[in-house]
Amino acid sequence: MVNDNIRFDSIIQKLRDNGHKITPQRMIIVEILAKSKGHPSVEDIHARIKKDFPTMSLATVYRNIVLIKSLGELLELGFPDGSNRYDGNRPYPHPHVICIKCKKIVDPDLDSLDELQKEIALETKFKILNHRLDFFGICSNCVAEKV
Ligand code: ZN
Ligand code: MN
Repeated sequence: MVNDNIRFDSIIQKLRDNGHKITPQRMIIVEILAKSKGHPSVEDIHARIKKDFPTMSLATVYRNIVLIKSLGELLELGFPDGSNRYDGNRPYPHPHVICIKCKKIVDPDLDSLDELQKEIALETKFKILNHRLDFFGICSNCVAEKV
């Protein structure tokens, strides 16, 4: 797990460096993203913020997500059903484990992926720029529920 405070500071700094104002609204979005262990959707983030900022619209949250993503500080996980989830804690490509029942998304701690990437580059003679690796399954909570 990447340190939440380091991620928070680095996103805020990137925004400042690019001339963006740091409003309280923006700060709370960044805070949620920096701690985004659960890979929230825009709707999840909006729901969490609504208590403190009742006037903040979903569109405002979305605009901030697009901005932070454009600065390279946010990893977007798109799915065929149109639901996007976000990881501001690890903004670089990494594998995910996804529960098909409750849609929980977890970051496994792996070292083997660097080796795999080198092997793929060597084998195909591609310069690898990005990757997307998802493992789908049923989480321990959902297995226990036997839904
Ligand atoms: Zn589950
Ligand atoms: Mn992740």
